[in-house]
Amino acid sequence: MAHISGEDRSQLLLLPDAVDDYVGPDNPVRFIDAFVDGLDLEAAGFHRVEPSDKGRPGYDPADLLKLYIYGYLNYGYLNRIRSSRRLEVETHRNLEVIWLLRQLKPDFKTIADFRRDNRGAFRAVFRQFVRLCRELDLYGRELIAVDGTRIKAVNNRDRSFTRANLKKDLQRIDERLDRYLNQMNEADADDAGGRVDSVAHLHDKIASLRNRKETLERHRQTLDDTGEAQLSLTDPDSRSMHSGTRVGVGYNVQIAVDTKHNLIAEQQVHSNVSDLGLLAETATAARENLATCEIDVVADRGYYKIEDIEACEAAGITPYVPKPDRSTAKRSGHFPKSEFQYDAATDTYRCPAGERLAPLYRRSVSKSRPGTYLLAYTNIAACRGCGLRQRCTKNLYRSIMRFENESMMERMADRLAARPEVMDRRRESVEHPFGSIKQWMGQGAFLTRRLANVRGEFSLTALAYNMRRAIDLVGIPALIAVAAR
Ligand code: SF4
Repeated sequence: MAHISGEDRSQLLLLPDAVDDYVGPDNPVRFIDAFVDGLDLEAAGFHRVEPSDKGRPGYDPADLLKLYIYGYLNYGYLNRIRSSRRLEVETHRNLEVIWLLRQLKPDFKTIADFRRDNRGAFRAVFRQFVRLCRELDLYGRELIAVDGTRIKAVNNRDRSFTRANLKKDLQRIDERLDRYLNQMNEADADDAGGRVDSVAHLHDKIASLRNRKETLERHRQTLDDTGEAQLSLTDPDSRSMHSGTRVGVGYNVQIAVDTKHNLIAEQQVHSNVSDLGLLAETATAARENLATCEIDVVADRGYYKIEDIEACEAAGITPYVPKPDRSTAKRSGHFPKSEFQYDAATDTYRCPAGERLAPLYRRSVSKSRPGTYLLAYTNIAACRGCGLRQRCTKNLYRSIMRFENESMMERMADRLAARPEVMDRRRESVEHPFGSIKQWMGQGAFLTRRLANVRGEFSLTALAYNMRRAIDLVGIPALIAVAAR
């Protein structure tokens, strides 16, 4: 018996007559088409929405945007088609793309230029899709989880410098130079004058170290001139991340995820190495995107900063952030602050010896945190004769530092104690988008350089994640119906 045979390739009309026949009603490209056609691209900030009267006609930005959304949406599924060259290839061979672009075939440079020129507008497209999902009631708009991850930049670690690294490297070079110069002196003092080839080798080594030293000193001077803490040569906006992240040099990506269906409500990319200070900005933008007046936000202890908590509350956001254990007293074996009971009625602390500690002086936290003050609570007389002093302080008296508005943090601790499950919901909600995105992005790496480009790139990535999620939740026909309204 013969195998099933295909048709003769040279047979005419082997394929259906219309490209449309290849794209089923549930194909995501039908939604991409309807979604982009429904956008106000001019208001979103895209260039050349109106065709120019002069020169050769250009591509409609709507067509190029559709191509990019397709590429990002299918990145995890269709062999990494995010780059402009890969997208160009798809316009020639991929029937879905041929349908989506109505057989237009822009070259890779046009595709790449479009992304560069419109990088700021992709955020507006992301927000428009959030609005669409809101209309489908896919956001719970009650609790969002904020978290950050580090994504690798186009910059190797050996092309990135911090002051500390430069100092260490320069010290090492000086030590080696000293050693080689001593060896040269010894060779000169030698009756035989040293072996000629080894002396020449030392000369080369010294010259190369001096070159390296000059380069590193130039980098140090650049840091002094700019006041920056780090210098990255390939992508100047990227930063050396903590070694625990295994990212090397990268960017700090922040997302706010709605806990109902794990959809992203807001996404941002920063050069900051730490998450500290990024909570209020991300949560406030998420609240605006979700068009709600009040919302709860949960984040891990890396976001615990009193100014941020205060800003959240002022914006109608109720924060849930556990307190990190930064107590130096505990590490040194002294009573931790938690052993001191605050009494709001008398504005005093009761210490382990039962004494009352009252406010003595007020000081600002640091120059970088203007307007934030600490009060020092003490009882010098009681400490002087206290039998517990060895266990309390190595000084003459113990001071308990309290933020002026620390009661706000105490209220937050009470809220967390009443709803311990929110921390589990935080972890479950942020794991899904970060896991999917990193897998799609090929080990989690940006393709573009500079913060503005990377922000545009991540807006498309987050948009693609949300689209995938919404397609799974409600299907293509429901999405097309809302986009067509
Ligand atoms: S040293 Fe001072 S603060 Fe500490 S337990 Fe004694 S009295 Fe209280």
